Formats: sequence, C-alpha cells, structure tokens
Amino acid sequence: MEAIILLGAPGAGKGTAAERLVRRLGVRHVSSGDLLRNAVKEGTPAGREADGYMKQGKLVPDELIGRIITDLLVAGGPNLRVLLDGFPRTVGQAEMLEQVITAHHGRIRGVVLLNVPDAILIDRLAGRVVCPGCAKGYHVRNMPPKVVGVCDACGARLVQRKDDNPDTIRNRLAVFRADTEPLVDWYAARNLLIRVDASGEADAVNERIVAALN
Ligand code: AMP
Repeated sequence: MEAIILLGAPGAGKGTAAERLVRRLGVRHVSSGDLLRNAVKEGTPAGREADGYMKQGKLVPDELIGRIITDLLVAGGPNLRVLLDGFPRTVGQAEMLEQVITAHHGRIRGVVLLNVPDAILIDRLAGRVVCPGCAKGYHVRNMPPKVVGVCDACGARLVQRKDDNPDTIRNRLAVFRADTEPLVDWYAARNLLIRVDASGEADAVNERIVAALN
C-alpha cells in the first residue's frame, strides 16, 4: 500500500490536481469529501451523521472519516496505490493513517502541500461549480465547461456545492488554519512534506507536483 497525500486549504486545487495526477501516475483517487457526499446522498448511517457537520463547514469526527478511509485502504490490498485528497485533515487522522500503513507494511510516498494565497482561494471557491453525477469540478471563469452549466464528461447539469457559500467558505478556511495546518509541521518533521506553488494554471501546477514527487 502506497499513499500520496494532497494537503491544502479548500480551493487550493486538490480535486483538480488529483484528476490530472491519477492519469499521470496510475494511482487511485480517494477524495474524503466525495466519499462523504456520496454517503449523504445515499442516506447511509455515516452519511446521516456527517450531513450536519458538512453543511456548517465543520469537520466530521475523526473516527467517522478515519473508519471509511482505513476500511477502503485495507480492502484495496497490498498493491493499492492511492492519492489521498482531503484526508488526513487533523493530526488525529494522520496518526490513524500512519497506524494502518505501518500495520500493512506500506509507505507514504510524499505529502504535497498546495500553497495558494487567501484571495485566490476565495475567488476559486466562489466561482466553483461541480458535476453532481461524476464529481468533476469547474470554475465559471478560470476553468469553464465547453457548454455553460453542463458537465463535459457526463452531460449532467452543474451545481454549486452547498458549502461553497460565503459564510461556510469563511468557516472552512478557519477550520483549515486551526485543524489542518498543524499537519504541515507534522509531516515536515517526518521529512515527507513537499511544498508546491499552486496559485497558477492547473497544467503548470500539475507539472510542478510531478517533478517534486520524482
Ligand atoms: P472537501 O470536499 O474535501 O472540501 O470536503 C467537504 C466537507 O467534508 C468538509 O468541509 C468536511 O465537512 C467533510 N470532510 C471531508 N474530508 C474530511 C476529513 N478528512 N475530516 C473531516 N471532515 C472531512
């Protein structure tokens, strides 16, 4: 089991980078946010528990998301290679991940920190639209679909995420600073942290990530 971790504030471009890296590196994309949104849509017990936290832009409890991710990693077997997008988000989750990786003789290949100034983060989140069918993300101005409001990949009508409204965005950025930023030092201390400037255009960011991982 091998994991690459994408770390970055909401709007840093984790989903966009992940889409490109999956093709380039032949890894499986595991987005904790997509897993939770699917669980909410399907009305599973985990989804029912997560819904209230997500609507407010709060993190769901470590045990809830930790169990979903570790079950998925264990089920994938020893040859699984994943790109983790949105997990871990707290030091507690990083410890859970370390435990499961150690127990299965796996390794973390690198932790890529996507660095983006706040003003750009807010602009990206406010203009973001997503496909409810296949989860592909777009930006109304910077990364528009070919036909306005329609997913290029599957033809579904694009929507704004419930948590991409100004109040919830502010909350999610504050949660990132308080709960997730400590992971930067945590992984730097383990010599796993790779800082990448992610403020520019998606293809250029992708090239920087691939170069940094090699
Ligand atoms: P994302 O799509 O990564 O922005 O995640 C959307 C929402 O799902 C977050 O605002 C949290 O409410 C929840 N979430 C996703 N990943 C995690 C995680 N690793 N830990 C706790 N909550 C999470």
